[in-house]
Amino acid sequence: MAEAGSFADRVKQQADIVRVVGEYVRLKKTGKDFSGLCPFHQEKTPSFTVSPIKQIFYCFGCGKGGDVYNFVMDMEKCEFPEAVKVVAEKCGIAIPRQKERSPEERKENQQRSVLVEMHREAQTFFVKQLEGTLEGKAARAYLEDRGLDKDAIARFGIGYAPSGGDALLRQLKSKYNEKLLVDSGLVSRDQNAGRLFDRFRRRITFPISNESAKIVAFGARALGDDMPKYLNSPETPIYSKSNVLYHMDRAKDALRRQDFAILVEGYMDAIAVARAGISNVVASCGTSLAEPQIKLLGRFTRRVIVNYDPDTAGQAATERSLSLLLEHDFEVRVLALPPVGDKKADPDLFIRERGKDEYLKLLKEAPPYVDYLIARARQMDLTTGEGKQRALNFLLPYIQKIPNGIMRSEWATRIAQQLRIDEPLLRSALSKAAKERRGVITTRPEMSGRAAKPVERRLIRMLAEAQGFRQELAKHLQDARLYHGLETEKIFAALVIASLSGQPLQATEVGAVLEERDRRLLFEILFEEANEPTWEEAMSCIEALQHRQAEQELADVQRSIEANPAAPELRGLLEKKQELMRRLAAAR
Ligand SMILES: [Zn+2]
Repeated sequence: MAEAGSFADRVKQQADIVRVVGEYVRLKKTGKDFSGLCPFHQEKTPSFTVSPIKQIFYCFGCGKGGDVYNFVMDMEKCEFPEAVKVVAEKCGIAIPRQKERSPEERKENQQRSVLVEMHREAQTFFVKQLEGTLEGKAARAYLEDRGLDKDAIARFGIGYAPSGGDALLRQLKSKYNEKLLVDSGLVSRDQNAGRLFDRFRRRITFPISNESAKIVAFGARALGDDMPKYLNSPETPIYSKSNVLYHMDRAKDALRRQDFAILVEGYMDAIAVARAGISNVVASCGTSLAEPQIKLLGRFTRRVIVNYDPDTAGQAATERSLSLLLEHDFEVRVLALPPVGDKKADPDLFIRERGKDEYLKLLKEAPPYVDYLIARARQMDLTTGEGKQRALNFLLPYIQKIPNGIMRSEWATRIAQQLRIDEPLLRSALSKAAKERRGVITTRPEMSGRAAKPVERRLIRMLAEAQGFRQELAKHLQDARLYHGLETEKIFAALVIASLSGQPLQATEVGAVLEERDRRLLFEILFEEANEPTWEEAMSCIEALQHRQAEQELADVQRSIEANPAAPELRGLLEKKQELMRRLAAAR
């Protein structure tokens, strides 16, 4: 978080949260604050509030809240350092160059930027080859045949790696040493002769960019019948296959806007779908998704339509990806395209042959994953008991992942009907399987909806805002142990620590150490209409708390006396009772 004096802190001091949020949300002034429709949940009346004084926001509807960085992190689905950059840029604050920590780190960073530079040069080279050489001409004819015109070639940076075997190598050799060339993955070394040569030869090249739109690898498709048909960059210091989704750099906006992703297998598919005007498409560029890719995607949306190839490998990949997506709590639908003529259709072929409207229509109708799976199971041989058992074993692991019990039960009925399996039998298999698996407990943040007592609310507000005396007040509360046992105890404890530090309050940081319901309550209290706090008011709140505490103690003492009237400590208890009654009477 923004440590005092850090760059992030300086940016936060200068940034105006109302202006930054105002770029995303239409805000209206209401009293001291601003309000608008929450960008994080659907609503018709504004419950999203921004305070220019406190420089925080809070949504009374969904409970999201925090400072300008939290807002940008949620909006842009990015991490903290990225959010600092975004806010700095919006406010015209120059971003200092990052300090590297150790010499090794500096060397690694240097190597990485050299490798990125090499990829940029390779990209220029491949594009030139496609544009200006005889061989490139043949490649262009192939691309045109696949429906990729000049615009598409330029838009997706498609290029060509010539057949010679060392054309790129010759280009790069003068500037980079052998180790770097090999490390880049653009150049390979002959195992026997030790000679260097181009990794990609006689292939159409597709630049693969990371999330920040830097080219870090290439995918390459053979022009002729060379094997393999598709060849990708190897793992390098700047590229790890499982960390990158093709087209992610361009899909970000659309993913956020539409809140769902279309997941396809290869770059040709992603390009075809994106060209059809559907920008929220990404490709896994491998047969199935890897966990880091799912996490990357999850920063933008939790809804996915999987549209893999209809061949056996594609089906297996779909099912593996399904498992992983469900484990990560994604809402998943599956689009299995019908064949075009007698050909099985991947998205690329389908859109070329049947057009984008037809594709869009099928996309809209894409069924939930369970329907897809039932359809798959029905293709199995269901005439024998064994066959049915196999179909059931295929389905069970997925059905178990349905988090909602009622839904799970409905699906069980449907599966039983469609596969003609005895329903009680199916249910017992399901519950047996459920007992065996580890319980997955998903907790949802509950709405706070708590009516903490006004006195507590008032004191919390003062601890947060009363610049003149919050430190003093915190000491008082702590010494008298006044907030112990209160419903708001944890909020008090966090605020007391923050106040004793003497630093101005960072509501977000206090919120970060609290449980969700406490964090919400804190933000609600901070946004309440309130008068300027005074020390007199603070003291009267404290008296009220003391009174309440005494009443509580009195009740406890009374209970102890009644529970065991013959106890040896009875006398002590009675004395204590007298004293508490005196105290309460005096306070009245
Ligand atoms: Zn909201």
